[in-house]
Amino acid sequence: MNDILNQRGILTVVSGFSGAGKGTVMKRLMEKYSGYALSVSVTTRAPRENEEEGIHYFFRSREEFQQLIREDALIEFAEYQGNYYGTPRRYVEDCLSEGKDVILEIEMQGAEKVRAKYPDAVLIFVTPENFDQLRKRLVNRGTETAEQIAGRLKRAAEESVYMKDYDYIAVNMDGAVEECVDRIHDILQCEHTRISRNSEFIERIREEAGKGAE
Ligand code: 5GP
Repeated sequence: MNDILNQRGILTVVSGFSGAGKGTVMKRLMEKYSGYALSVSVTTRAPRENEEEGIHYFFRSREEFQQLIREDALIEFAEYQGNYYGTPRRYVEDCLSEGKDVILEIEMQGAEKVRAKYPDAVLIFVTPENFDQLRKRLVNRGTETAEQIAGRLKRAAEESVYMKDYDYIAVNMDGAVEECVDRIHDILQCEHTRISRNSEFIERIREEAGKGAE
């Protein structure tokens, strides 16, 4: 990252259809580049096989989740397929002030709430190149029942309407995860150079230029 420009971390939302490969893309982004932090959400969903507490999610009961809402400990939350999911506030705010770009891998209702609360957040939508690939990936993943897969595909159809509200699209083509990861990295690097994120730098140059011209 260009350390003369914007030092504050960028709050980044990454959404995408279930089965779009967001998880793999995010994992690779963390491995490949430094300066990113991936927020771990709280959920009332039961852990899948191989999912670990505090790594994939913080698994909590509905009562515990409601307590977090009352304490205003979540920056956003949403209900998805009968379960609650939410983003813990503390970690996100700490990382942003440390200058890390924080990635929230969340669904669309949450994305909308983040956009309203943090207008300078960057919203990226990860998608396969076509819908058939999505269906195949969900079936091959083998972690959901046929009924759950049908539910997720129906949800994807509904969600496709809201893609237009995102800032960027990152296409995750079959066998091209690296390309998708690099594209997301490029988007964020570019965002750090945005004029609206660099008013202090601009002010300094103006002052220096003013003095130099005296
Ligand atoms: P899954 O059950 O497949 O892990 O996640 C289901 C959906 O919930 C995914 O689209 C995922 O991105 C989203 N999700 C995960 N964590 C959060 C969160 O903290 N807030 C919101 N709004 N959505 C989340």
